[in-house]
Amino acid sequence: MENFEQNSQINPEENMRNRVDELREDEKRDDDSIHDLALEENEYRKELGNEGVNKVSVDKLANLYSNQVLEKIENQKAKFKDSLTKIGNRGAFDETIPPILNIERREKKDSAILMIDIDFFKQVNDKHGHDVGDKTLKEIVNIIKNTIRTSDIVFRVGGEEFAVFLPDTDVKGSKIIADKIRENVEKVKIYNRTVSIGCMGTDQSKVWSKGQDKPDMQKVMSELKKGSDQALYYSKEHGRNQVTLFTEEVEKYHEEKEVERKIRAKKK
Ligand code: GH3
Ligand code: MG
Ligand code: MG
Repeated sequence: MENFEQNSQINPEENMRNRVDELREDEKRDDDSIHDLALEENEYRKELGNEGVNKVSVDKLANLYSNQVLEKIENQKAKFKDSLTKIGNRGAFDETIPPILNIERREKKDSAILMIDIDFFKQVNDKHGHDVGDKTLKEIVNIIKNTIRTSDIVFRVGGEEFAVFLPDTDVKGSKIIADKIRENVEKVKIYNRTVSIGCMGTDQSKVWSKGQDKPDMQKVMSELKKGSDQALYYSKEHGRNQVTLFTEEVEKYHEEKEVERKIRAKKK
């Protein structure tokens, strides 16, 4: 290597690492392209008259760099995974849904979001300890997973709060799945926990329905999150263990509560 550096200012290792980074960004990347790159790199070394300077074979190079690529992908994946329940986290929810919304839009399909929060979850921790609380979280995730379709995706977006993305579903359809989740959690009786749920569909989004070719999916996402959150809050405030669809009434209720909360905060 020393010898090589004397001969040239270009460092093949560096060059290759940059190319590997480029490949990582390339969606069409596969093992063959990494192997081709290693081959190219070996040829490049030869051309510079450094044959034998680095004895790493093409296969070894390819292996080395594909491992680097894999490691980076694994790190990336870990960043988006909730370590307790092994489902996607809030970051994954925010990153992966807008592109899917684009596809749905192109196919003229609606999508919906469920926000799910466990009712009085704190009591489980308080009565039975944190480990039992953790186990309860995992069991509720399993119930959600076993209730939804394989094309639906569940994320852990907060401590005891989950979001489910339902492709090809409007708000009415989302109610059917939300009801099933609520019923199944109640039936299994994990420390008698229940869930409250809020739903909103793209068929209710103002940004989505404006008739633009390409609505801003980040904005649609914000609307869906806000609307389903307000519907969830409505479920909580009206007795828990229930499903609420986002409506104008829900929006109004939320706004009135916010005004009350601000007045109370000022008085303090
Ligand atoms: P509500 O019906 O209003 O939602 O009541 P709640 O008790 O579910 O809600 P609250 O926000 O008061 O408490 C949430 C609890 O969730 C408190 C927190 O300690 C617990 N929690 C959050 N993350 C975890 C976790 O990873 N493991 C465990 N065991 N508990 C967690
Ligand atoms: Mg809760
Ligand atoms: Mg909560």
